[in-house]
Amino acid sequence: MSPPTDLAALYQQIGRAGRDAGRRDPGSPAPVNSGLALATSRGMRMVRFMTGQELPPSLLRRTGHIVLAQRGGTLDPVRLAETLMADDAATGELTEADLEDRYVQDRYRGGVMRAFSALADLAAVEDLGDHPPYCAIKPGDLGPAPRAADQPNKGPSDPVRIERAVVDIALSWDTPGKVDVQALDRELAARCPDYRSVAEGPAATWELLADLHDRGLLDVSAAPSRRLVTGLTVLTDTLPDGYLPLLRRRGSRAAAELAELGRFFDATTVCAQRAFGDYFGVGDIPEGCCATAACRCSACWNAGDHPVDERRPAVADAFYSPRGGSRTDTALRERRIDIQIHRLLQLQPSGAHPRRLWHALRGDESSYNPRQHKMIPLPRVLRESRHFGGRADLPYASVGEGLTRLAGSGVAAEGPDGLWRAIRPARQAPGSSAREEAGA
Ligand SMILES: [Zn+2]
Repeated sequence: MSPPTDLAALYQQIGRAGRDAGRRDPGSPAPVNSGLALATSRGMRMVRFMTGQELPPSLLRRTGHIVLAQRGGTLDPVRLAETLMADDAATGELTEADLEDRYVQDRYRGGVMRAFSALADLAAVEDLGDHPPYCAIKPGDLGPAPRAADQPNKGPSDPVRIERAVVDIALSWDTPGKVDVQALDRELAARCPDYRSVAEGPAATWELLADLHDRGLLDVSAAPSRRLVTGLTVLTDTLPDGYLPLLRRRGSRAAAELAELGRFFDATTVCAQRAFGDYFGVGDIPEGCCATAACRCSACWNAGDHPVDERRPAVADAFYSPRGGSRTDTALRERRIDIQIHRLLQLQPSGAHPRRLWHALRGDESSYNPRQHKMIPLPRVLRESRHFGGRADLPYASVGEGLTRLAGSGVAAEGPDGLWRAIRPARQAPGSSAREEAGA
């Protein structure tokens, strides 16, 4: 469910399920340990954004320049992404709605991080590590360490002396509830001789604070910050020649890996272990692959040429909803779909478009709104419903069929606005008709 960006990552994720089974006592009967990999459109979209398939070179170049302009020593991807987006909104490249769009924001933030990582690889910047922009500092449980008389002074960069200074300066900060880590770092460098011999910047200062916290000398919390920023040293004014080619190479490699991943999930009749073998260039996959119920892949289960007494694990079966099947199976399945659609409608008293119901049943976090030209997150009440993602393989047409059946049995109706609503069944109370109930 946490989408991998290539088959190698997927292989590792699936491998974890097998290792858990391997740890069992070899004497006890081993229950089958199932690893399930489900590809969803949302997951694939997320990795496409993460790997930055769609940033134009001009934007990548601007992003590189803005990273190199961070002479203050801190890279804040969220803030830089906002700056780039505001520039693009000013030129009409982005609309007002785009500025609020989570996916557009992710795309720009991802771009900043990729630009930074490429520039670090090209030695144009130095990555000094992450730290929260603000922290809260209180005295620790143990208080400042007393300076023991017998403790030898190790000279100008005596770490004990530096630590004492850090504790003193941190605890005398004007706003202990919200300490600017970068400002504290500068203050320490200015007031504490040889401070730079123990901490080369804000990220190292944050590490030092965390260390003092662990030892009970300070009580430090990153709570005032909701994200991390990255410490950096900018080493050059101009974008290195290799910058765009490196990003383009990484982009096309990521695209190729994603295409490979998509093919893996699409090829439902190809043995998954054979597909991994091909990916890693392994000619013969070991004997025993897919040979027993404990290690058989879904394609080999589907092929059906396994011993008749072996059963696919129930959890895998549960994800494998029947398509077609006998008439009773179909009727049962339709009734379950109807119940799910009806429950979702009950959660949306002001009405729901069939497409929204479909996305909820498929487990998509958002649906495309044609009027606003963007992805709109599904209402929380739907996303938190037990039926969210309950029908990952449901074709869109089935939602319409379900709604028609619900309308036929009088428990749902389509309004003049094209939205569907659940109708409460009429109670046999005097003066209460189904119509009034629906309007209530
Ligand atoms: Zn197989």
